[in-house]
Amino acid sequence: MVSSTTRQTATDLDVAAIRADFPVLNQEVRPGAERLSFLDSAASSQKPASVIETLDDYYRRYNANIHRGVYQLSEEATQRYEAARHLVADFINAPSARECIFVRNTTEAINLVAHSWGRRNVNAGDVVVLTVMEHHSNLVPWQLLAEEQGAELAFVRMTPEGRLDLDHLDTLLTREPKLVAFSHVSNALGTIHDAVEITRRAKVAGATVLIDGAQSVPHLPVDVQSLGCDFLAFSGHKMLGPMGSGVLWGRRELLEAMPPFMGGGSMIRKVELSGSTWADVPAKFEAGTPAVGDAIGLGAAVEYLSELGMDRVQAHEHGLAGYAFARLGEVPELTIHGPKMTEGRAAVFSFSLGDVHPHDVAAILDSENIAVRAGHHCCQPLMRELGDVATTRASFYVYNDHDDINRLVAGLGRVRQIFGSA
Ligand code: PLP
Repeated sequence: MVSSTTRQTATDLDVAAIRADFPVLNQEVRPGAERLSFLDSAASSQKPASVIETLDDYYRRYNANIHRGVYQLSEEATQRYEAARHLVADFINAPSARECIFVRNTTEAINLVAHSWGRRNVNAGDVVVLTVMEHHSNLVPWQLLAEEQGAELAFVRMTPEGRLDLDHLDTLLTREPKLVAFSHVSNALGTIHDAVEITRRAKVAGATVLIDGAQSVPHLPVDVQSLGCDFLAFSGHKMLGPMGSGVLWGRRELLEAMPPFMGGGSMIRKVELSGSTWADVPAKFEAGTPAVGDAIGLGAAVEYLSELGMDRVQAHEHGLAGYAFARLGEVPELTIHGPKMTEGRAAVFSFSLGDVHPHDVAAILDSENIAVRAGHHCCQPLMRELGDVATTRASFYVYNDHDDINRLVAGLGRVRQIFGSA
């Protein structure tokens, strides 16, 4: 549990105190090297000691399968697993914890919806609206579904600034799509989409709405009731939680009407040789032995973030985004992709540096203990829109500060020296 007096003031995060909670950030990665500047949280965040200790405690003290054993260890594991579900539900203001299904990640959550809801509700000739900015996780499952069902995918265009073209959304909505699925925050460009407005318009057109919250739930206050969506998918490992933890939230009436995703133990009410009936939600969608420790660890991550306060997390990252904009703007030949202002943008920066290959940029930064991402960020169609195959991406979180940005800018200066452009 985080003490609320040491890691934040009324309005700010105390980054030094937060960094002290993250063992990875406090080790010597290379002898004598400067501290690690971890700028790849959009891929996976680091984990605070409270999450690591929660996992350790589970495996050392009460490791057992859940919902099955009539003995103390199993009862404790079950109780903590279900308590984590309540923590997650409160975190996104879900009307009921039963609407939160533990999965491995955002990808699995979206595949669950495509498989169970999609095969029931999307038929030949139907339209599914996505956007050109989606992560492959919110694209490929729908391609598979469309191919199988004979449905059509339509894509909301992007403006030159890297925002969604809402007039084009309106045009696509006249086709009365069955589903509109979009990411709340772009992992490649950092754009924060107006999820409330997009959802409102999609609902008026009669569509079911799925929001990919992989990059929003870790970084902003997200409230499913004020968003008005039908499904929200997110990954625990991007929000300080363990690898292999994730959540699908869905409206109860939709979840209840959907057939199971996978069949097996735990998800049944009664099994006969001739057929079976299903358990109530969420068990219907949690076939087999779940990742018990990881779900409990995700609960600890949610407690940590809640103690910091998601408003403060958002404000902190907004401040970092502003500073990063100003400092990256000083680097000659550096082009930031996506919105050219901090409003409506997350602390995720994809950029190109002259004609230096992003892998070279990342490798040189790594030699200075600065971890960034290089590649297509699982957004190949978006990269094509940008006219590039890859970018370098720096993404920031609660443990980053101005010094990380200063080090990044200095490192980019060295990249330019090495490549003879400075
Ligand atoms: N959606 C977005 C916007 C993402 O950024 C990511 C991961 O980077 C995903 C989906 C997939 O997340 P996961 O790999 O945890 O399933």
